[in-house]
Amino acid sequence: MKALVYDNAWGEGKDGLKLVEDYKNPTLKAGEALIKTTLMGICNTDEEITKGYMGYKGVLGHEFTGVVTDVFDDADKSWIGKRVVGEINAGCKSCKWCASGLERHCPNRGTLGIWQKEGCFSEYFTLPVSNLLEIPANVSDEEAVFVEPLAAAYEIIEQVHIKPTDKVALLGDGKLGLSIALVLGALNIDLYHIGKHQNKLDISKNAGNKTMLLSEIQGLEGMFDVVIEATGSVGGFETSLSLTKPRGILVLKSTIAAKEGLNLASVVINEITVVGSRCGQFSPVIRLLEKKAIDTKPLITKILPFEKAVEGFELNRQKDTLKVILKV
Ligand SMILES: [Zn+2]
Ligand SMILES: [Zn+2]
Repeated sequence: MKALVYDNAWGEGKDGLKLVEDYKNPTLKAGEALIKTTLMGICNTDEEITKGYMGYKGVLGHEFTGVVTDVFDDADKSWIGKRVVGEINAGCKSCKWCASGLERHCPNRGTLGIWQKEGCFSEYFTLPVSNLLEIPANVSDEEAVFVEPLAAAYEIIEQVHIKPTDKVALLGDGKLGLSIALVLGALNIDLYHIGKHQNKLDISKNAGNKTMLLSEIQGLEGMFDVVIEATGSVGGFETSLSLTKPRGILVLKSTIAAKEGLNLASVVINEITVVGSRCGQFSPVIRLLEKKAIDTKPLITKILPFEKAVEGFELNRQKDTLKVILKV
């Protein structure tokens, strides 16, 4: 089968990325489903992996829609033929984290296309049946392929109690920031979305949020009960911290990779709670899509055939690109 594979043995960065024509077909293990991929979303995490993130090599990809074509256990036969999306972390099912429903934090987990588990940028791949969610009939594949990135916003709601009167700021107008903005907009949160690109912020504005350019935020220091950092830059972290009220909450959604020292003095001085936040729940996002509360169309920059996957990664690197989708 065709698969988009990253292997640093082939070279650094994009040189390590290849569309392999005759990659070995996946084999089913107990509890798993075989999924025929229909759409795949390119994420910045995929791009980071090609720069060495997590030391991963193998089939890339964790954002997908697909159809179940086979299952290992007869008891799961009813899944065959269903359109699905899937949670990307597959736990060991025997540790205390898995037992408490937190497979996302299982120390022995595989994470689709990121860690110890071949990804979905291939014609077929496998996931545990327990990770799958059926796509409702009135939700298109083009909408459902956004469930995973949109779920990242729901993790914030799971971790932080945002009161109806809270003022919330969101920094960053890339894919991650806009995904969060669409969900929080649909949830009627008093959101001020701050970014550098008015054309991208307009997508957030259309979802009902207030928007501001980074150059316009003087005087807002210490004004927000909750601030969400989604820029991935040290500068974005420092600005987010300065916008947070004393005793407020700063949510970090991006893994700030910089190794230079971050100045955390104001975290102590202003007694700010810092919350790290990663993957979230899929089912509430599916409900929002089913209710047509989110319009994902403005996030799509281009849909390319899977054969042009390497070109898709090149497009993803360009500054104005939002989501690039690959279609089998
Ligand atoms: Zn992603
Ligand atoms: Zn486990």
